[in-house]
Amino acid sequence: MMYLIIIFVSPLYFLIRGKIGGLILNAILYFIALGCVVSLIFAWIGVIFWALAVGHAAWHLRREFMLEHAEMIATKMVEAQMQGQLAQTNKSYDDPSDMKKCPMCAEMIKYEAKVCKHCGHKF
Ligand SMILES: [Zn+2]
Repeated sequence: MMYLIIIFVSPLYFLIRGKIGGLILNAILYFIALGCVVSLIFAWIGVIFWALAVGHAAWHLRREFMLEHAEMIATKMVEAQMQGQLAQTNKSYDDPSDMKKCPMCAEMIKYEAKVCKHCGHKF
């Protein structure tokens, strides 16, 4: 659908996308082409301008697709990173950092432990 618009009325693509700068440039190219075709004598020049207008719009459309893809990839990368961070925080819940060192045997034991599991020291 978008390709049909670009081939026949390329300025319309910029109008739909709301890109005024592209619209002005493309409309100039398009109307030069149209004027040449209407005057018949310069119809062959019109083809050149028409090709320029179509090429201009097609180039923009392709860049738009590429930007969309880049955004999708970036979003996926951020999502993956966030999931990785989540996994890390989950891990730290499994083996909490709130451990303490037994004063008698110097082994790491749970902070809430009342008795050292290594030497039996009571807190
Ligand atoms: Zn101990």
